[in-house]
Amino acid sequence: MGAKIISGTETAKSIREELKTEVAELKEKHNVVPGLVTILVGADPASQVYVGAKEKTSKVLGIYSERYDLPEDTSEEDLLALVEKCNKNEKLHGILVQLPLPKHINEAKVLYAIDPDKDVDGFHPVNVGKMVLGEQCFLPCTPHGILELLERSGVETSGAETVVLGRSNIVGKPIANLMIQKRASGNATVTVCHTRTADMKFHTKRADILIVAVGVPKFVTGDMVKEGVVVIDVGVNRIGKTDTGKAILAGDVDFDSVKDKASAITPVPGGVGPMTITMLMKNTVQAAKQAAGL
Ligand code: NAP
Repeated sequence: MGAKIISGTETAKSIREELKTEVAELKEKHNVVPGLVTILVGADPASQVYVGAKEKTSKVLGIYSERYDLPEDTSEEDLLALVEKCNKNEKLHGILVQLPLPKHINEAKVLYAIDPDKDVDGFHPVNVGKMVLGEQCFLPCTPHGILELLERSGVETSGAETVVLGRSNIVGKPIANLMIQKRASGNATVTVCHTRTADMKFHTKRADILIVAVGVPKFVTGDMVKEGVVVIDVGVNRIGKTDTGKAILAGDVDFDSVKDKASAITPVPGGVGPMTITMLMKNTVQAAKQAAGL
């Protein structure tokens, strides 16, 4: 029997329905409209797609949205001034600066300038610190989405040998941290692998849950996993274009060779991707509620 497909598209759809209801209730009962601003510097095509999707999803859910498209040569000073303006704008509860930023801008400086109470991406050190301590905070969207996918698909994480491939600040490190915590979709025994890992296959073969975020198309193949593994493929790699110019996407997992051994697996596209944007919306609603003291 093949693997169960863990559909991020379906899970995201049900969370969005819940959010839509919550947003409508917030407006009706408390006159609160969650607001999100997205700031894009430059014209990177992938970033434009992401920002467009975030704006569109906000509108569908009834979230007020503002968008700034700034030229590539925007100075760090001007960007910081815009962030400060958004920090002070009471209509905006969430601020998202799309990464990567152009090389002449210090990314950390900009992210640290965002008010932690509006940091719906969960990248500010205050939120990262609270996350590590297991305190209430904005969780980074992709790891948050993975937790929801595991929980809503009924995957038992407690005691599970969990192997994370990749140690980036936005995926690998936070998901590893969240999964060792005493919480829903936590209590796992976690190993983190990266380019210095001596024997990758030794680790991947032991995994009950394998979370892959390396950015290398089809990196994990069927011979690297054990029967019954649950696979979460975070990778989004553009490996070509269709005749109509649409990007062809591949995950970090070789879906075809892994799916017959796995008990459950996320597809690409339609896996973690839709969850990331949805969790951004969830954080924005949370930010609005917090700002209103709800
Ligand atoms: P990243 O910052 O490039 O980090 C990649 C990590 O993988 C690094 O820790 C690196 O190790 C490790 N790695 C790379 N090649 C490796 C190899 N051959 N063997 C072992 N380890 C290797 O990437 P990221 O931002 O975490 O993103 C990873 C993937 O997820 C990308 O495809 C990205 O597009 C995707 N992504 C998707 C979403 C979503 O919403 N679906 C969100 C974020 C990212 P070192 O630290 O040793 O260099």
